[in-house]
Amino acid sequence: MPVGTAASVKGIPQDTLEELGAQIILGNTYHLYLRPGVETVRKMGGLHGFMSWDRAILTDSGGFQVFSLSELRKLNEDGVTFRSHLDGSSHFFSPESAMAAQIGLGADIIMAFDECTEYPAERARVRESMELTARWAARSKDYFEEHKQEVPWGQASGVGRQEKQLPHHCFAPVRNDNDLRDSGRSTDRWATDGHRLAPGSTQSLFGIVQGGMDRELRKESAERTVEIGFPGYAIGGLSVGEPREATREMVEWTVEHLPANRPRYVMGVGTPEEIVEYASLGVDMMDCVLPTRAARHGLLFTSEGKISIKQARYAQDAGPLDPNCPCRVCQRYSRAYLRHLYASNEVLAQVLNTIHNLSFYLDTMQRVRHAISLGEESRFLSSVWSRPQT
Ligand SMILES: [Zn+2]
Repeated sequence: MPVGTAASVKGIPQDTLEELGAQIILGNTYHLYLRPGVETVRKMGGLHGFMSWDRAILTDSGGFQVFSLSELRKLNEDGVTFRSHLDGSSHFFSPESAMAAQIGLGADIIMAFDECTEYPAERARVRESMELTARWAARSKDYFEEHKQEVPWGQASGVGRQEKQLPHHCFAPVRNDNDLRDSGRSTDRWATDGHRLAPGSTQSLFGIVQGGMDRELRKESAERTVEIGFPGYAIGGLSVGEPREATREMVEWTVEHLPANRPRYVMGVGTPEEIVEYASLGVDMMDCVLPTRAARHGLLFTSEGKISIKQARYAQDAGPLDPNCPCRVCQRYSRAYLRHLYASNEVLAQVLNTIHNLSFYLDTMQRVRHAISLGEESRFLSSVWSRPQT
């Protein structure tokens, strides 16, 4: 999932995201709550109407940003008081208010309010934090069940969304319990925009597993979250500064304790090699700022390894960025031109670099899905690993 923090994947218009094949994007509740505010988005028909995006959207609960961005936070059983990183104003997030915000924003998939445990942390501290997350998960679900009909879908606004016909490829991985029960099949029923606009349709609330880098606590957190019962499960608290080997170990271990017939989502990962590897471990969804953020810093992922386009060696390189990439940037522009745009601090450098990196990530996942459908994950994996990555 490309990350569109403030209802925008930085530098990339929505029609370009559609062209690149993005089926779902992510928005950050913390940022949208502070600016433009939930009420503004709700009045515009939710994020779909506000940003004119018909395909699926997932919002995080705001918890991660509260813990990583805001100052002077104070946490207790009720929730967390924090100061905005924008203007220092004081705010309060609880499981209930985070659900209210996400229902107002109207994404297709919303996340339970959790505490992202810091790394490193003592075991007692990790346990305490994991247990708080479990209690908050139950409160998140209770509030959601009572208020889920308040989602602003179908409330006008947006640019003629309801008349649009969606192409087949925009099917998004939003499944609900009724679909699973009725179909008797676990993986091939997909909710679409049509579902979203159907009377009485609601969002899907996912639970989040915490537990630090501790296997036992991860297992217990997974079991307690599954017991509460959600249509999908996320593994949170990773990519917080731990060694990559620990991330992999926790993903592999935790996935085993989550139901295979529900989407399993690892939050905040990873490199192209990592997302392929996690997919092979049974992970269905991932999000990361890496492709977009790295692009804005001139760091590009290619089939031949990473490229830092700012390097002088590309100044007169007439070749494409990635000779194996079908994206419109690689089809049209030379490395020399991209290097010049970056060196001259042109806005176009950020746009073109981001288009390529997103294309590379989305194509990678497209190939993973294709390999899985053919039952050839292992062959695909070995071809990925044989690539030179610097
Ligand atoms: Zn490209």
